[in-house]
Amino acid sequence: MKSDDVVVCDPRPLTLTQRFYLVEVVKGLAVTLRHFLGNLFARKYTVTVEWPEVKREYSERLRGRHILLAKPDGSPRCVACYMCEEACPAQCIHIEAEDDPTSPSIEYEKRPKVFTIDLLRCVYCGFCVDACPKEAIVMSRTHEMAFGAREEAIVGLDELMQKGPYEQLDLGYRPYFGAPRSKIELPIPVKAR
Ligand code: SF4
Ligand code: SF4
Repeated sequence: MKSDDVVVCDPRPLTLTQRFYLVEVVKGLAVTLRHFLGNLFARKYTVTVEWPEVKREYSERLRGRHILLAKPDGSPRCVACYMCEEACPAQCIHIEAEDDPTSPSIEYEKRPKVFTIDLLRCVYCGFCVDACPKEAIVMSRTHEMAFGAREEAIVGLDELMQKGPYEQLDLGYRPYFGAPRSKIELPIPVKAR
């Protein structure tokens, strides 16, 4: 390295009060005290909310817990293509496929026999939603989850499928955010949890 490339930074000279270290300490404590008293009596500087009593309004695109959707006849919309499992960077999706004997066409020839997501390994990236060719998996805005044991975080088909009209689900990140597209069969949830 040439000496011309080296930038020498001269330290900023200290003022007289800064040289008396104690004065700056007292100034710092005064700032702390001002914020403490301001928050204690007037919540003047409070930027946090008192969760869970107070909750923020979250974005429509929030990536929360997953929802599996269904075809109009109530069977899983998922065709067990493994695209989401392949796309998942956390490798927390596990699918086992089986033939769908009720399939009206070759389009739905497979269905998931097993479909689990480990919600504690999931990083909520939404890649599974993006990868799904059938809009079978979307995300909700449910993000408050608690588990008593590790195994409880591994949810299957029953827990992932939810009840109610599509529009009334607590929808979060999904491939399409507008009104239902006429050419696409609107996904509906399968059954109560
Ligand atoms: S949100 Fe991301 S990490 Fe979670 S299951 Fe989907 S792809 Fe995997
Ligand atoms: S959820 Fe979608 S991407 Fe995943 S296996 Fe089912 S159809 Fe394929």
